[in-house]
Amino acid sequence: MKLDPDLRLRIYEISGIYASRFSIPEPKVLLTTREVLDMPREMTEGARTSAYKYLGLSYNKQSLIFINVRKVSDEKDLENTIVHELIHQRFPYLSHGKRFNKLVRQGLRGKNFPPYQKRK
Ligand SMILES: [Zn+2]
Repeated sequence: MKLDPDLRLRIYEISGIYASRFSIPEPKVLLTTREVLDMPREMTEGARTSAYKYLGLSYNKQSLIFINVRKVSDEKDLENTIVHELIHQRFPYLSHGKRFNKLVRQGLRGKNFPPYQKRK
């Protein structure tokens, strides 16, 4: 997709809506690889110069996500990617797999998730 000010605003809106449903702080959303590189190094540790390869990234401890708009093909892909990254933020202990995908589908359908409780 082509990033313009309208799309940028819409992405911030969509992220805000899902963040509140997932009971997580509204993340800072980076939309270009330039924005990733412009962040302080310690914020984006693990994926900086490799960010262009991915559709999206979640920097879990930072309340920070990257949506690679250039790589996103359409509206549906966009919403999927945003929800995918926000599920990482809400369920930081969970890696990709069946359970993860199920949570993404539930999220896309509008499910609310209670705040994350650190397990003792
Ligand atoms: Zn992922």
